[in-house]
Amino acid sequence: MNGTFTPMMQKYLETKEQYKDCILFYRLGDFYEMFFDDAITVSRELEITLTGKSCGQEERAPMCGVPYHAVDGYLTRLVAKGYKVAICDQVEDPKQAKGLVKREVTRIVTPGTILDAQAIDETKNNYIMCIVYIADRYGVSVADITTGDYFVTELPDGGKLKDEIYRFMPSEIICNEAFYMSGLDLKDLKERFHMAVYSLESWYFDDTACREKLMEHFKVSSLAGLGLSDYDCGVLSAGALLQYLLETQKNDLSHMTRITPYTTGKYMMLDSSTRRNLELCETLREKQKRGSLLWVLDKTKTAMGARMLRKFIEQPLIEKQEILRRLDAVEELKQSAISREEIREYLSPVYDLERLITRITYGTANPRDLTAFAGSLSMLPPIRYLLEEMESSLLKDIYAELDPLEDLCTLVQNAIADEPPLAMKEGGIIRDGYNEEIDTLRRAKSEGKDWLAKLEQDEREKTGIKTLRIKYNKVFGYYLEVTNSYKELVPDYYTRKQTLANAERYITPELKELEDTILGAEDKLYALEYELYCTIRDTIAAEVKRIQTTAKAIASLDVFSSLALVAERNNYVRPKINESGKIDIRDGRHPVVEQMIPNGTFICNDTLLDDKKQRVSIITGPNMAGKSTYMRQAALIVLMAQIGSFVPASGADIGLVDRIFTRVGASDDLASGQSTFMVEMTEVANILRNATSKSLLILDEIGRGTSTFDGLSIAWAVVEYISDSKLLGAKTLFATHYHELTELEGKIDNVNNYCIAVKEKGDDIVFLRKIVKGGADKSYGIQVAKLAGVPDLVIDRAKEIVEELVNEDITIRVSEIAVGGKDSGAKKKAKPKKYDEMDLAQFSLFDTVKDDDVLEELKNIDVGNLTPVDALNTIYRLQNKLKNRW
Ligand code: ATP
Repeated sequence: MNGTFTPMMQKYLETKEQYKDCILFYRLGDFYEMFFDDAITVSRELEITLTGKSCGQEERAPMCGVPYHAVDGYLTRLVAKGYKVAICDQVEDPKQAKGLVKREVTRIVTPGTILDAQAIDETKNNYIMCIVYIADRYGVSVADITTGDYFVTELPDGGKLKDEIYRFMPSEIICNEAFYMSGLDLKDLKERFHMAVYSLESWYFDDTACREKLMEHFKVSSLAGLGLSDYDCGVLSAGALLQYLLETQKNDLSHMTRITPYTTGKYMMLDSSTRRNLELCETLREKQKRGSLLWVLDKTKTAMGARMLRKFIEQPLIEKQEILRRLDAVEELKQSAISREEIREYLSPVYDLERLITRITYGTANPRDLTAFAGSLSMLPPIRYLLEEMESSLLKDIYAELDPLEDLCTLVQNAIADEPPLAMKEGGIIRDGYNEEIDTLRRAKSEGKDWLAKLEQDEREKTGIKTLRIKYNKVFGYYLEVTNSYKELVPDYYTRKQTLANAERYITPELKELEDTILGAEDKLYALEYELYCTIRDTIAAEVKRIQTTAKAIASLDVFSSLALVAERNNYVRPKINESGKIDIRDGRHPVVEQMIPNGTFICNDTLLDDKKQRVSIITGPNMAGKSTYMRQAALIVLMAQIGSFVPASGADIGLVDRIFTRVGASDDLASGQSTFMVEMTEVANILRNATSKSLLILDEIGRGTSTFDGLSIAWAVVEYISDSKLLGAKTLFATHYHELTELEGKIDNVNNYCIAVKEKGDDIVFLRKIVKGGADKSYGIQVAKLAGVPDLVIDRAKEIVEELVNEDITIRVSEIAVGGKDSGAKKKAKPKKYDEMDLAQFSLFDTVKDDDVLEELKNIDVGNLTPVDALNTIYRLQNKLKNRW
């Protein structure tokens, strides 16, 4: 260390040396200051002024600072940019300090360990993940320090690891060097998914140290007690994570009360593109909750419930019994609508108990947190009472786990004032009547004057000294003043303090006591209130396990009540669950699209897939017809059933699937540095390699990003591969504009053609949105382009070109291609059905509407009986009829 630095700067540099990988926030007075490179970085990132400070060297040290009371905002912004920040605080009272005030790093804030409520979404977990890569296995542990959740697993390959990363979406990943170098695309994780990735030094992963750390933390004598005996690699990651958290939090993490080992085989696997394509928790483009499946299903009342529902959606189940248990719970709550709504009302004021208890164990909960806590707990007994009558096994379990915590509720209600302040050391926290000493001190503060007046009166009466007065000065404090004329009457328990010309001043033990009470009252009061407050907080903290268990029970109840309410409101049905592989959906609807378009206008459709004749459906139809919607709706219905939700259909029998894969449209993966076609093929490769015969595949447009011949050939070969049970044999919905693929029906047993019906009306088309058997032979791309507003000149020219191309007959003679290369005797070309030939009788509803029909309907409206909303709906419907000529 350079000796010429000032002593303060030397101390700073010593601390910085220990936290090289962090930005050091160094507390000086009312500011946190940063120096040297840290100052330059922070001033650039947060756009705050860079100044300098003389530090003993010739040049001033670059410096910038932020006020201590606003530090959270700055921290959040830095951490969001991927920095780690070490907070160095004064740990002794500057008034008591001899020499430089003692400072220590009190916590390190990283993206995965930030606690600031403003920085984290209450409806999401903020996970930190630790990955250890050893001998071709991955040990993975995940924690959310704001809730105390802590999981561990092991994975055999990089593909599964990626799925796990996308499932948890941690904001921070810590790992061993071997993982860092393992070739996984960390850049993608960092840049596209904004995850911070840090490799830790090797000693974090020392086997003995990891084991000991875990055993010590969970107070067990062997790891078998934690269920970790089969997780050699997992133990390393869990141990390293615990060590890292202890170091960053500088606290004993007493709220992390359990570690849950799990196997990924319990859940449906979903890769990142499937999660995004199905818009499970956010929309593809805007990344917003509105428009996602979560948005439709989330009617939860608590933050804990919201987080759990998100988890449900992110990890659908694959075990029939567990799904049925969930469905039973939803069904019971759907049927018991009155109890459910009452439960939901009690859930409404329940705060985030999981995050509250974390603040309580950290010692950062303020008095208002405690009243919020008690307010929440007071809802538990009535909730429990309503649950008592429930019969489904899951609701019974929730009942059993839901501890009414009446002792803690009573404690807080008795001890803490109704509207306490946020500050912990300025009194006003403890309720009157809870503690005698506090009451006395409070009275002393406010009623001191009355007491003095009473004492004065009493003494006058006792002694007969009519002019006796109690007075106060700074030197003697309170005293009794007796004028000389009454000197004779002064009793012997008066102690003389001072003699004046015409009077004497005395004190008595009682007056002294009163003086102590009055003068020390405030200081003592505040200190005692704080002490009591801490005792109450610690009493609650000691019950962390009970509270966490109850919080989870509340979260589940909230989720099932929400699913039940949504099922009721949106007219969902309970799906049957089978293990025979058949997916049979009657009158299915897209859960999100139906909410986004006017009520009742969604056209429902059936879906039938199985492991026999109905394995692959080739879906053709014009652009905009509704192919994507139809396919996603099937995937979402299966997924909803497997999380235990009712589904938008009139009936559904769902064969459990182990994975859902989607390959949808041109990806927005420019950031990944690959061409659109390369991305498409990478996704196809991933699907073909990882799907099983139990998977559901949604393939929307394969082979579109290259030349027609190459694209069609790839699409063709993919269908052959998927449909063949010796190769893959997965249930598949395959949408395509290569109408040539419809030729596969009849050539391959389990491939069937469907198309989405439209009607031609002159130059225009009417979308019927109904799926029917058969293939389409036109895409109506030009009509859709016209609808989209492409200039007439271009549209007309396109029509001319199409005409020429058709006349030149450059269609590919796919009918001559042998299936799988074996069948050389190609069957007669199956002529795709024309729309006109289709049985459209079932669509009488959609028959072309003449303007007269609209007028007729208008005429017949009973305006007197129309509500304003009905009127609007009617106008909307009629207008649509005219626009679409339905
Ligand atoms: P493209 O081939 O151009 O990708 P597509 O056939 O996949 O088109 P979708 O994107 O599924 O078409 O649907 C287009 C729009 O039609 C949707 O945004 C939706 O609003 C509406 N739509 C789709 N299906 C239905 C339906 N069953 N009922 C009512 N509206 C629907």
